[in-house]
Parts: sequence; structure tokens; C-alpha cells
Amino acid sequence: MDTEKIEGLVYELLKAIGENPDREGLLETPKRVAQMMVEMYEGIQYSNADIADMFGKTFTVDTNQMVVVKDISCFSYCEHHMALMYDMNISVGYIPKGKVIGLSKIPRIAEMCCKRLQLQEKIGEDISEVISLATGSEDVIVHITSSHSCMSARGIKSTDSKTTTLATKGAFGDDAMIQRFMLMKQS
Ligand SMILES: [Zn+2]
Repeated sequence: MDTEKIEGLVYELLKAIGENPDREGLLETPKRVAQMMVEMYEGIQYSNADIADMFGKTFTVDTNQMVVVKDISCFSYCEHHMALMYDMNISVGYIPKGKVIGLSKIPRIAEMCCKRLQLQEKIGEDISEVISLATGSEDVIVHITSSHSCMSARGIKSTDSKTTTLATKGAFGDDAMIQRFMLMKQS
């Protein structure tokens, strides 16, 4: 990421919105924003395959019972407004095919997929692709609910609305399997 360029552009942006970037409170702002962006958008530099390599350590198992990791809290940023998606709750389920991924790695995968300019629908697909690449399982499901500040803080100011998406692969194309996942997610 070109932080020097970001700093210059944020300086210009502040001028463009009618601010004085040289006033005391804003002197360090371009630098802070650039540093924040390095963290917020870390996932842009990695492909889904890279993320699978980074967090995809697996263990051999002799089971095919469904694994669900629920209530992962994340933030992301919508690609239409670069606005925050918040109160995001992600649950991931998959059916192992001879190997399982370390449980703590699933939130790390979700978080890295979120650190991009995203659509909520795409986050679910990215996470399910990474889980699939890491575990070799085609049976993955990702449930996400989130608030979008581009809806809650501007435009229609729909402060209480939440968006739910469900990305499914393989066996989760089946309604009964989705129901089993939803039951495990609620328990
Ligand atoms: Zn938006």
C-alpha cells in the first residue's frame, strides 16, 4: 500500500471538503488515516488462495460431522461508499472431508476476507471459498448479518435495519442441511 500517496490525497481531500488541513487538529490526520487504511484494507493484497495458505493449517480426522463456528464479530467496508459495515455477525459451517482446520483459524479467515472493499454477499462467498480451499471440503455455509453505515447514517437513515446473507456450497444447497446448520448456530 502506498501510504505516502494516501497521506497526500487525504490532505487534498480535507481541502476539497472545505477544511483547513493545516489547522492544529488535522495536522496528523493524513498520516493517521494512512496508517488506519493499512490495517483496514490489509486483505486487499491477498487472494483467497493466499488466505487459505496463511490460516489453512489442517489436521487429519476420521469424521464427517458438521463443524460450526458461530458469532464471529467483524467489520468491513462497502465497496460502493467505502463506508463501515458494523455489528457484523458471521457464522461458518462446513462438513470435513478427512481433515479439519484449526478452529481459531476460522475467525482469522473471516476477518481477513472482511479487510477489503467488500459487498456482504461477496464476504460470504470469499470465506466459503477459503474454507473450501483449506479443507478440501465442498460443503460450506456462511451466514452473515450486518448493519451498513451507508444505510444507517446517510440516505434513507434506516438505523435499525440489518442485512442477512447466506452463502452455500455443495451439500448446503439442500434445505434440510441449511436447517441443521441454523439449529446448530442457534444452540
Ligand atoms: Zn454502501
